Amino acid sequence: MSDTNSKKPLVAVMKGKSPEENYLEGIDKLGGISQYIKEGDNVFLKITLRVPLGYPMNSNMDLVKEVIYSCKKAGANKIFIGSFPSEKIALKLFDDLMGLESYFKTLGAEFVYLDNSDYYNQKLNVKNLKDLKADSLKDINIGEKKIKVPEVITNSDKIIVITQVNINPLFMCDLSLINYFSILPAKFRDIKYDNNILNEEIVKNDLFRQDLISNILNTYAIRKPILTINDVFYVLEKAGPLIYRDSNLKKTNVLIMGTDLISVDVITLRFLGFDVFKNDLLSRAFERSLGPEHISDIKLIGEDLGKISIKLNQSCLKLEDIKIPNIFVNSGKICSGCFLKAYHLLNFMNSRMIKDVKYIPNHSFLVGLNPPEPQFNNNVIVFGDCAIKSTKNYKFYTKIKKTLLKKKEKEVKNKNILTLSGCPPDFKNCLKQIFEYYDKSDLPNLNYLMRSLRTSNFFEYNKKLNKWEDL
Ligand code: SF4
Repeated sequence: MSDTNSKKPLVAVMKGKSPEENYLEGIDKLGGISQYIKEGDNVFLKITLRVPLGYPMNSNMDLVKEVIYSCKKAGANKIFIGSFPSEKIALKLFDDLMGLESYFKTLGAEFVYLDNSDYYNQKLNVKNLKDLKADSLKDINIGEKKIKVPEVITNSDKIIVITQVNINPLFMCDLSLINYFSILPAKFRDIKYDNNILNEEIVKNDLFRQDLISNILNTYAIRKPILTINDVFYVLEKAGPLIYRDSNLKKTNVLIMGTDLISVDVITLRFLGFDVFKNDLLSRAFERSLGPEHISDIKLIGEDLGKISIKLNQSCLKLEDIKIPNIFVNSGKICSGCFLKAYHLLNFMNSRMIKDVKYIPNHSFLVGLNPPEPQFNNNVIVFGDCAIKSTKNYKFYTKIKKTLLKKKEKEVKNKNILTLSGCPPDFKNCLKQIFEYYDKSDLPNLNYLMRSLRTSNFFEYNKKLNKWEDL
């Protein structure tokens, strides 16, 4: 029996001059594209879209182009390309800034606005929009939950996943399992807890992490792709998956692809020097029999993993390790929810607000349950419901002031406290609150960013996206 006919998952590890060249050689080693795509197939390519700023935060479009060409060569009828962005941003903005629709059209493929933001930005009435939503999204029941998945994905004959791998603060790397999760609209990916669940319980059992893992795996179980391609040719290490000040772009010249998504993710982690058994996302996938029975079942083709593996620098494990001028982090006990959101907010401030944080006075940033009393208690940012509730009796909420006439000391309310509520807080709301809280002259970077977002229709599109999601 040839390798390609074997039931064991095949994973090709290819090293070469470009991701495109690696893909062509890899698909050859996996038996040729016609093993996977048949004449007349409608194919959906799930790519990585994080923020509308290009590569390596999103997929490498030259690689996507080569995959499109090979599917066409195999006789594919239609090739759709798409993804919901990992952050809640309208796809119309991605198209405005990256020209995705016309780019893929010239290649004979179709960029799909999975959120229909190309439609609802025209004048359509509510009834038309509701009909459009009902036509474009399919209800799927997962346990007691009802979620909606785009029909274009469920109706496609074949799915290929192309993932731009970067470092990830929760699961070592942004693997294909995580990329595949964004076939769901943001509404069905977001995890928020209301006041009915005790924060202590969420933190104690890291419910956020448990729920996130189970949602990611449930989505993968809906439908498995025929091919998975993990692009690690260039990969962001130290901080990611977005480009941050502490990120470092590493060139590996490698592409890892294969017939089983979990197996491709396992080999990718091994190639990047991580211990697969310490990755709870993959461990749970194995427990649920979503991958191969044993890791030793994975049949490797191409490069010798032992000889070419590298050691990728992982992202910080403690928020205190994100060093920002004038901001000092004090963490209490936190779950993965606040860790993830604070990780992105702090890295964002350290990258896109670097002048701003130099202008503001020393601040303490408190997060989690019962954080230590702040070192700088004049200016405090309290992040998340756990920190807000558990610091209610802390000293920093008041300060001592001397009266002008009699020079007597009196206790007054400290007004220099910014509370960012939520369980976990929402990144965009946090930015909005920060923008409103400080003097605009103290925030030249954020001020500029807000103006750019306004001129790029970001707020306008997002308002409509929210309305669309609520329909
Ligand atoms: S407030 Fe933050 S740390 Fe506390 S339970 Fe919610 S997400 Fe977790």
